[in-house]
This record gives sequence, C-alpha cells and structure tokens, in this order.
Amino acid sequence: MSDLLGQLYRLQSRIQFVREREKRRDTVPADLVEVDRAYREKVEAVAQLKSRLTQAELERRKAEGELSDLKEKLKKYQTQLRNVQSSREYSAALNEIDGVEKSIRSTEDRFLELEEEIETARADLQTREKNLPSETEQHEERLKDWRAAQRTINDELVSAKDEIARLEAEIPPRDRAEFRRLVDKKHGLAVALAVGGACSACHVKIRPAAMQILKQGREIVHCDSCKRILYYEPASS
Ligand SMILES: [Zn+2]
Repeated sequence: MSDLLGQLYRLQSRIQFVREREKRRDTVPADLVEVDRAYREKVEAVAQLKSRLTQAELERRKAEGELSDLKEKLKKYQTQLRNVQSSREYSAALNEIDGVEKSIRSTEDRFLELEEEIETARADLQTREKNLPSETEQHEERLKDWRAAQRTINDELVSAKDEIARLEAEIPPRDRAEFRRLVDKKHGLAVALAVGGACSACHVKIRPAAMQILKQGREIVHCDSCKRILYYEPASS
C-alpha cells in the first residue's frame, strides 16, 4: 500500500512537471516578447514607408499635372486680357487670372511639401533597409536560444511522459481511475502530504486514528475535509 501511495505521489508530481514545462515551453519569454515586438515594428515600418512613398509619388505626379494645366489656363487668360474690348471684360479676365494664380501658388506649395516628404522618406527607407538584414539576423539569433530551450523542454517531456505511462501501467486500474478523478476534481492535486499531523492541501488536522492507519501504510486514507488521498513520508512529518 505504501508502495502504491508512493507511486501515486510520484505520478502526481510528474503530471505537474509536464504541465509546468508545457506552459513554459508555450509562453514567449518576457524579454523576447519585447524583442519580437520591436523587430516586427521595424519590418512593418519599412512596408509602411514603401507604401507611403508610392502614394506620395502618385500625389506629386498629380500635382505636377494640375500645375501644368493651371499654367495653360493662366496663359489663356493672359491672352484674353490683351484682347479685351471693354473694361468689364478686362476686370473679368483679371479676376480669372487672380484665381488661377492663387491655385498655382497652393498647388506649388503642395508639390514642394510632397517633394520634401519623398526626399525624407527615401532617406529613412534607405537607412532602414540597410539595417534590416543585420537586425533580422540578430532577431533570429535570439529566437534560436528560445528554440533551443524549447527543444530541451521537449526532451524533458518525453522522459516525464514515459515515466507517467510506466507508473500508470503499474498502478491498479481502480486506483488509477480514482486518482484521475481526484486530479480533475482537485485541480491537479489529488495526493496531499501529511505534514505535522495535518493535510498539507487544506491544513485541516488529521484524526489520530486516521494518522495511525496512514503511518502503518495498510490502506488508503482520505483527508476528512478535502477528500484528497493522504500521503505520509516519515521524513516530512
Ligand atoms: Zn485536506
């Protein structure tokens, strides 16, 4: 019986080990979360710059076209101005010229702003693209360490799972089933150590008679309070 209890206790600790290691393996380390985010931001920034550059170049071409149309219009009104017959026609042509000149100025301003934006974006993009290969390499290097840590965990998991399978094969089916049911019900803690005459899971005192049976190791004793299987280790009492 004490053999069975030892096996159940070991089984529980191996199951807990597997859960803890799986969680660690599947959680991106805190330092890598930041590194990963920063790297993805750099990649994203290059893509965004490229797309903005294409857009700005398009807008600049459009402004260029508008500017040449406006200049044509201006020429037309200036010709009209020279051929006016009345002062009414004269002031009308002058008005048109005024309006077109205003449009030309604002379009030129927009064109120059785009020129400046394109120049800045090109320089920024060039720097970023130059740095990206080494940043990618560095990032993969950092990921490599984590991948190696994950591989180590996977190796540990293989041996832990082997031991779990071996223990489960050795434990009688009825005890195994009860253990499994308790594991599910008690959030992974089915077997509790008896420490100082109390259940270490719920801290309720164990009756002296139950403690006696537990120490003799002749049958399975459950905690009166939390119903977990009690396990007694002479060294830990
Ligand atoms: Zn208890």
